[in-house]
Amino acid sequence: LAVLGPVPGAPSCPHGPALLFVKTSQGKEEGRRFYACSACRDRKDCNFFQWEDEKVSETRLAAREEYNRNHQPSFTHRQNVDRYKNFVRLPSSKRRFCQECQQLLLPAEWEKHSDHQFLCDITTAQLKSPSQLLYPLENKKTNAQYLFADRSCQFLLNLLIDLGFRRVLSVGTPRLHEMIQSKASQEEEFSVRSLLLDIDFRYSQFYTEDEFCHYNMFNHHFFGGETARETCRKFLYEENGERVIMVTDPPFGGLVEALASSFKKLMAMWRETEEEGHDNKEMPMFWIFPYFFESRILDFFPSFRMMDYQVDYDNHALYKHGKTGRRQSPVRIFTNLAPSVIVLPEEEGYRFCTVCQRYVSSGNQHCEICNSCTSKDGRRWKHCVLCKKCVKPSWFHCNNCNCCTLQKHSCEKTDIGCFVCGKAGHKRSACPSLS
Ligand code: SAH
Ligand code: ZN
Ligand code: ZN
Ligand code: ZN
Ligand code: ZN
Repeated sequence: LAVLGPVPGAPSCPHGPALLFVKTSQGKEEGRRFYACSACRDRKDCNFFQWEDEKVSETRLAAREEYNRNHQPSFTHRQNVDRYKNFVRLPSSKRRFCQECQQLLLPAEWEKHSDHQFLCDITTAQLKSPSQLLYPLENKKTNAQYLFADRSCQFLLNLLIDLGFRRVLSVGTPRLHEMIQSKASQEEEFSVRSLLLDIDFRYSQFYTEDEFCHYNMFNHHFFGGETARETCRKFLYEENGERVIMVTDPPFGGLVEALASSFKKLMAMWRETEEEGHDNKEMPMFWIFPYFFESRILDFFPSFRMMDYQVDYDNHALYKHGKTGRRQSPVRIFTNLAPSVIVLPEEEGYRFCTVCQRYVSSGNQHCEICNSCTSKDGRRWKHCVLCKKCVKPSWFHCNNCNCCTLQKHSCEKTDIGCFVCGKAGHKRSACPSLS
């Protein structure tokens, strides 16, 4: 399956304009093109489907519009902001949060939720950490929320501050946003601001329209329309020399091209805020993603480099930071900032390689032949003279395939590159990066 991207005139589902897809085989398009939901990989979450060349009747169009309207959240963002104002005025004994509906409750609504599970005595501290109060969405295909471990979140924030940024466009990073918001409200001299763009509308209960926009990063859709878009544009306008950086941690389910297309639009939005200043510059960005997507990301953003820092998560069993063993996080920071300025913590074993001019993992040895620190996963890699590059320690050179790969593999050839890692010799489903 390949995404042909957001195209003008595409039909819409409740998640904004649909994306155009096509089945591919051996790198060639196969069969009819069709539109499907940009945000949901799982048909159970959004079953929107339309052939590209399908004729849709007026009645069906009207029904679809009605359906889309009915599938918007029950409260608007404005209403949620007003509800919040009323909620914080309540004495703590009257502050309830319905766990089933994932909603702050006002006393008049208790009745309706009487047989739901709820939390009582919601504190101000809890209201300031919605990512702790809300349960992480765990739908594997559509919206798996992996929240930063405190260590990684703190590291990211300190890094941004040390680099001199004062504004953070947080795209799908609610926990980073939350850390910034909560510091800003507690520490007087803390001057960093954040705007959260996320598809998870539950957050609109806790943030004003200047702090949160309901946004779909797969089709660059602002659910709040032109007003929300304008909020974002204003935020990107660098007043008083306050520099902006965008930080994003998208779901890993693929569609790199759709993400890249949206991020380019956000970059363009930033560029257009400045009449002359930004001409040839790119908006600084951290794209947090697994290392095996490196070649895909670099296809779209050649100026990006992958950093060795391993980003850790709270609720991802496999991705916990491990000093020993193999349970290391595959998630990295991709950035268009100079690698030399991204200082990684020495106390966690990172060291500066003077030849590469960047911080690398302790296990990442500088290869004299490649003349770079070549490991992607933190383990020491070995150089293969036949492949003329360094490969994973567990790989062997297969003379049949004429490349290095896992010892256990079937030597069947596919000409086109793997969808995940871009390498030839295997398909996405057999990608050794995913094993
Ligand atoms: N590590 C981050 C969370 C990353 S999980 C943190 O701790 O802050 C991915 C995030 O992207 C979630 O917040 C999820 O709600 C959001 N997301 C998922 N699909 C999205 C979409 N189509 N558009 C915008 N945001 C999306
Ligand atoms: Zn309820
Ligand atoms: Zn090498
Ligand atoms: Zn080899
Ligand atoms: Zn692969």
